[in-house]
Amino acid sequence: TVGGQPVLVVNAHGLPYLDRRLPVDRRVADLLGRMTVEEKIGQMTQAERAAVAADPTLVAQWRLGSVLSGGGSTPATNTPAAWVDMVNEFQAQALSTRLQIPMIYGIDAVHGHGNVHGATVFPHNVGLGATRDPALVERIGHATATEVRATGIPWNFAPCVCVSRDERWGRSYESVGEDPALVIPMETVIDGLQGRRAGQLDDADRVLATAKHYAGDGDTDYDEATAAANEGKPWWEQRYPIDQGVTVTDRAHFARTDLSPYGPALWRHDVGSVMPSFSSVDWTEDGLGNPTKMHANRELITDVLKGRMGFDGFLISDWEGIHQIPDPAEPTNTGLTAYKVRVGVNAGTDMFMEPNTAPQFEELLLAEVTAGRVSTARLDDAVRRILRKKFELGLFEQPYASAANVDQVGSAKHRAIGRDAVAKSQVLLKNAGRALPLRRDANLYVAGRNADDIGNQAGGWTITWQGQSGDLIPGTTILEGIRQVAPQARVTYSADASAPTAGADVGVVVVGETPYAEGYGDVGGPECGWCSTPQQEEKSLRLQPADQAVIDKVCAEIETCVVLVVSGRPQIVTDQLGKIDALVASWLPGSEGAGVADVLFGRRPFTGRLPVTWPRSEAQVPINVGDRDYQPLYPFGWGLRTDHGRSGLAAVADQRPELRAALAPGNWNADGSLRNAPEVLRPLGRQLGTGQGSAARNDAILAVAREAAQSAVVRGSAPADWATLIAEADRAQLADDPVRAFTLLARVAT
Ligand code: BGC
Repeated sequence: TVGGQPVLVVNAHGLPYLDRRLPVDRRVADLLGRMTVEEKIGQMTQAERAAVAADPTLVAQWRLGSVLSGGGSTPATNTPAAWVDMVNEFQAQALSTRLQIPMIYGIDAVHGHGNVHGATVFPHNVGLGATRDPALVERIGHATATEVRATGIPWNFAPCVCVSRDERWGRSYESVGEDPALVIPMETVIDGLQGRRAGQLDDADRVLATAKHYAGDGDTDYDEATAAANEGKPWWEQRYPIDQGVTVTDRAHFARTDLSPYGPALWRHDVGSVMPSFSSVDWTEDGLGNPTKMHANRELITDVLKGRMGFDGFLISDWEGIHQIPDPAEPTNTGLTAYKVRVGVNAGTDMFMEPNTAPQFEELLLAEVTAGRVSTARLDDAVRRILRKKFELGLFEQPYASAANVDQVGSAKHRAIGRDAVAKSQVLLKNAGRALPLRRDANLYVAGRNADDIGNQAGGWTITWQGQSGDLIPGTTILEGIRQVAPQARVTYSADASAPTAGADVGVVVVGETPYAEGYGDVGGPECGWCSTPQQEEKSLRLQPADQAVIDKVCAEIETCVVLVVSGRPQIVTDQLGKIDALVASWLPGSEGAGVADVLFGRRPFTGRLPVTWPRSEAQVPINVGDRDYQPLYPFGWGLRTDHGRSGLAAVADQRPELRAALAPGNWNADGSLRNAPEVLRPLGRQLGTGQGSAARNDAILAVAREAAQSAVVRGSAPADWATLIAEADRAQLADDPVRAFTLLARVAT
């Protein structure tokens, strides 16, 4: 039954493509051979939920291959069961067509199943980058897939395998980091989503994944001229200076930085779909003098991705992506034209996200095929790829979702994974006087607008597209987490720090950004059409004036001052730093704020490391590891630990006899830092150099070296190029070169 109504499923005409015993390629070939051109074009077309919700028969009329929920496009009652009913209703329509080809529903579950009320919302990718934990990320992928498929949806437009190179990019938070060496190992999320073995896609807890946005989305240039031209214009006339912009680079850099995550995504993880980027590359030109839009870039899509790299899944365009291809005959037309359809299809994209223009797209494509400007071979290539994934997903056998698994959505098990991820994602940037961890019976004064706001800590792609401040989803705010983890603590809370402080010994100030998804990021001004709050006036990475005022006040009045920055990217805190005892990058933790409290109170150690460079000033941006003049406030890879002072290490020494000598009390200062770094590190380096020993042993040794290096920096005894050395050490560790990593860290430490 669908929506309470019985539905007749005719599945008995005995045609080969419905025979599950046959190999997928046979079934695809059989079905393809029976399809009309119109049916093929339908498979290549994806409409938005809102376009068909009022009249689901349109799914059949338009012979749609797919329907999506764009960010925030949810059924009126946003419960997991309502999603199942909605998807089934569309599916019933798809199955009422001549060949009964199931449609595939797609959604952006980019940090858990964020559109669905009650789902587990995991940290956004930037926080996952800080965990440096591919196994954890795989678990998150699996939990996400379980929740997504439980609502009847077999396809996720994630992960973003973008490499974010400029923090002014509003989607920086969707990247796990600024270096492909970090992005690539974290692609294990694809295994979590799709399953590791071929043939798991039809399991009830797996979905098809999408590597996006191909390629260079995070590496576009900030265009000052566009930014200047926007001044004073209403938002709808403005153009983004960086999002959807131009990757200005040479082919070698592009291959090394922007393209490199796609090889492993295909070969190691067998990602099933890829989404082209809204951006362009500047080394080819579209005939009108513009850099070629990726959606029109046949070389990169067909020759490189499908040809040289051997991608055998399908490409789904981005949202009206082909509308952005300039038509020489009508350069100002921002809608759809025959030219755009032809160029887009011939470039090699297989399915087209045409949220509100599906029938126009189909009509234009049919005319192009009839006129011979798009070949039937191109159509067959596209449809073959799409059908193959539908078969692999088991949609022909099990087109309808059952509501049996909806209790998986937001389950305690998944929330525990989320909490673990949050704890591991916290990066301790500064910890003067070992202000952290806090005592659980401390007298705390908690302040700042992000301390008790679950919407802010979840960020974009949560219930709505841009996300929203306030009590948006079930879960735990950071303040609630503090109260849970330290019930004995005395906690006074005042968002704007206006309440008196009454003897508090520690101030915990939680500041940062408010939600956004695309475009500029935290910007827009009061007239901004899609911004969720009118306060989003800053086009900068500086802390908002109100946040600065709360830090100033609390840090002046209370002895020990801890500042947490909840944001999708680094914020400029240089002017405040002197007043702050402990500074934490909390990123966008999502629904499980207790994970933040876990590390604040030492229930778990701080172990996170910066996935991106933390700049000193706005003038420094963009700044990345590998830059010649690399002097950020904190380098890529920076992150203090609270478990690697002597006492912390003592806990692991039993399992790691090689560390025992290093832990002799005489080697350690009273504040827990290492005293005789050269003597302590030398034998450890020798052990690494033997090339024997497990990865876990190597990591433990590197943790000692990193601790020694970071405390040399804090003491002011490190060499002038310490930032480069630390960042390069992290890259070496990511590249599985522990000896080089150790050598670089030892140079900082000694
Ligand atoms: C974004 C994509 C997303 C799509 C569908 C676009 O605006 O760029 O990342 O998958 O919308 O929601």
